[in-house]
Amino acid sequence: MTVIKPKVRGFICTTAHPDGCKASVKSQINYIKSRPHANGPKKVLVIGASMGYGLASRIAAAYSFNAATIGVIFDKPSNGSKCASSGWYNTAAFEEFAAEDGLYAKTVNGDAYSKEIKDKVIEIIKQDLGKVDAVIYSLAAPRRTTADGTVYSSVLKTVGKPYTNKTIDLKTNTVHDITVEPASEPEIEATVKVMGGEDWQDWINALKAADVIEDNAVTVAYSYIGPEMTHAIYADGSIGKAKDHLFETAKNITAADDGIKAYISVNKALVTQSSAAIPIVPLYISILYKVMKENGVHEGCIEQMYRLFNEKLYGDKVITDEECRIRLDDLEMQENIQTAVAAFWNQIATDNLADCTDLDGYNSDFYKLFGFGIDGVDYDADTDIQRTIPSLS
Ligand code: NAD
Repeated sequence: MTVIKPKVRGFICTTAHPDGCKASVKSQINYIKSRPHANGPKKVLVIGASMGYGLASRIAAAYSFNAATIGVIFDKPSNGSKCASSGWYNTAAFEEFAAEDGLYAKTVNGDAYSKEIKDKVIEIIKQDLGKVDAVIYSLAAPRRTTADGTVYSSVLKTVGKPYTNKTIDLKTNTVHDITVEPASEPEIEATVKVMGGEDWQDWINALKAADVIEDNAVTVAYSYIGPEMTHAIYADGSIGKAKDHLFETAKNITAADDGIKAYISVNKALVTQSSAAIPIVPLYISILYKVMKENGVHEGCIEQMYRLFNEKLYGDKVITDEECRIRLDDLEMQENIQTAVAAFWNQIATDNLADCTDLDGYNSDFYKLFGFGIDGVDYDADTDIQRTIPSLS
């Protein structure tokens, strides 16, 4: 038993609070329970299910539709002295609540890019569910090892030429210019290998070959577009190239014409472990939070995933833009929101940071990712850092 405090290093927190993670999962479950539901899938595979959009997808599917869920995660248990990763605690809590509510939930912990993990998942589907009717692909990974042992690392750089704009140093709360250098061709290729659609396609091929995916299944992967000040680093940058590939993959999966429909859902910019590492974007997000909260349209991952499942994907028909993408960034991209964000962006500097941003909201969401700062949790109390994920024990 020990008292756990946050220890932030760079873009991550190296500790996580099991009771805080549990309370956060509970509040996401309660949000979904409190809302009306569409008719949705019953057997859902979520790849990248332990944090951020993937965790919220799993919760939204399970608690909107009473769906059985299999989650693929890549997380560390506690070794007795160090905390487990927050994704581990989230998953332990999710399985515990699911069991209490009579919902099937199993988890596979390991590298989703590997054949071994795909085989394990297929075995569980065969044994327990027969077939899945929805596959959510929500990986955000820094690297991928392919079958031949090659390691590809993704980079967050521009394409073509350097780009200079404002960014925030969250350690010192100062705004300064940053120049992001262009990625080399091999770096762009590696980023596409990691964050593009190749592995998503591999998953769908493997599920089809094993006959464990329904003919009318739906599969969704997540992307981001954002406003102009983020384009050089995101939509037009190395990660954007990977997202273009993901989009092409969606078209290819659907074009196979065997009934499976693949969609890209363009989600809102939010604080997650992955987005915190992107230059320029955290400053944008902290302004966006202020503007969206002031306009009463702010959402977190769970509100976004509620809308995805209940309003966009499983209503009367799938609601997409003209390019067949689901737009959960609809509120973020509203003209009044973006005009207000741009006005703050143009004047923002270290000395007016508090007036132009919701930095407190940004920081609070960052700590919440690791289970800190959650209402009702006693952070001075001793807690057991060893938690089990029932289906893995
Ligand atoms: P996240 O870091 O919160 O979650 C990523 C998940 O992937 C975690 O559960 C992690 O454990 C899992 N994972 C990573 N590597 C893995 C591996 N090798 N095997 C198995 N699991 C692995 O990230 P997120 O922000 O929720 O991102 C999910 C998706 O949503 C990404 O495609 C991202 O680009 C997209 N997206 C994010 C935002 C945003 O602002 N955060 C906006 C739009 C779209």
